[in-house]
Amino acid sequence: MPPVPSETLAFQPSNDESMSNKLESLRESSIKRVMSDSDQESDTDKKAIKRECRMTNATVLIPCPLVTYGCLGEVACDEFDAHYSSSIHQECLVKAIEAQTQKSNTVPECVDLLTDAVSCLYNENIQVQNTTIELNHVMTAVDNQIQSLKSSIEATNQFMSASQMQQTLLQTEMETMKEKMTEMSTQVCNDGTFIWKITDVAQKISDATAERQTSIYSPPFYSSSNGYKMCMRLYMNGDGQARRTHLSLFFVLLRGEYDAILDWPFSYKVTFCLFNQQDKRHLIDSFRPDSKSNSFQRPRTAMNIASGIPRFCPLTSIHQANSPYVRDDCMFIRCMVDFGNMAKTMIPYVCSLNPGLPVNVQRSLLQAEAARRNEEIPASSTEE
Ligand SMILES: [Zn+2]
Repeated sequence: MPPVPSETLAFQPSNDESMSNKLESLRESSIKRVMSDSDQESDTDKKAIKRECRMTNATVLIPCPLVTYGCLGEVACDEFDAHYSSSIHQECLVKAIEAQTQKSNTVPECVDLLTDAVSCLYNENIQVQNTTIELNHVMTAVDNQIQSLKSSIEATNQFMSASQMQQTLLQTEMETMKEKMTEMSTQVCNDGTFIWKITDVAQKISDATAERQTSIYSPPFYSSSNGYKMCMRLYMNGDGQARRTHLSLFFVLLRGEYDAILDWPFSYKVTFCLFNQQDKRHLIDSFRPDSKSNSFQRPRTAMNIASGIPRFCPLTSIHQANSPYVRDDCMFIRCMVDFGNMAKTMIPYVCSLNPGLPVNVQRSLLQAEAARRNEEIPASSTEE
């Protein structure tokens, strides 16, 4: 569709004279347009027209430019001036102008639509921008949260390692406390007797045999609440001449809190008793301290040299399967210091007493037994 000259847009029907003037000027411009269009027509089209011309052997016929508005389809070239002045062409011209005017009226609508669309897009763009800004804020917040989480994790880790260190410290302290408690509990049994529970006997025998650890010490015990401090030393695979043949059991004097006010040298009879856990036929042996030995002088170091019974018990009785002295991998050895010159014959009786009985009960049982035996002795002696 050829573009409409701008003056046609201003077309408005008014009085006849101006109308005809207007139409005249439009006619002229439309002619100019047609002519310029014709000038721009390709050579092929011109050739086609000429060919048609030759074929019909007549004058050249060209459709009126307003043929789409109902004007003539064929107008002879030399008749165009007359055709333009014809009423049919003039009517078609008016139709064409009206159509173009209508079309140009739709342009503002299109512009409005486009403006709406553009403003819509603009709004959407603003929304997108706002959303982006919001998302950026959210991202920053999330980033901050991650940072704070990281630092709190770090703080937790530090706290954990500090707690772990503290726990280790506490554990060490607890071990120390336990040892102290053990010592204190043995201090409570401070009547000069002590029962030593030896655990993991098989392991200790193998340690001694392999000479990884040849001897072990019992916890310390006391003769009274402010008395001598003592302990036992046991060689699981024997010591010296008794090595590999006997258990060697020794008595050790330890430096105590009250040594300064006690009697020295230590001169009280010491008795060892290895418990037979099957019946009450315990293994009992005693020795009397040699008052000249360094072992029984007042301790000047933490502990004196051990002294006692190297051939206390044949290893065969311990190593044998089902040894009555070893049950559940445990052995029990009692050490008794006799501060009251107990008759030698009473010792087996003392050892046979239930260690679970309170000390005062054990003592009264012992006194009763001694009294009974004193009564029997004259009778038996008279019989002799
Ligand atoms: Zn025409």
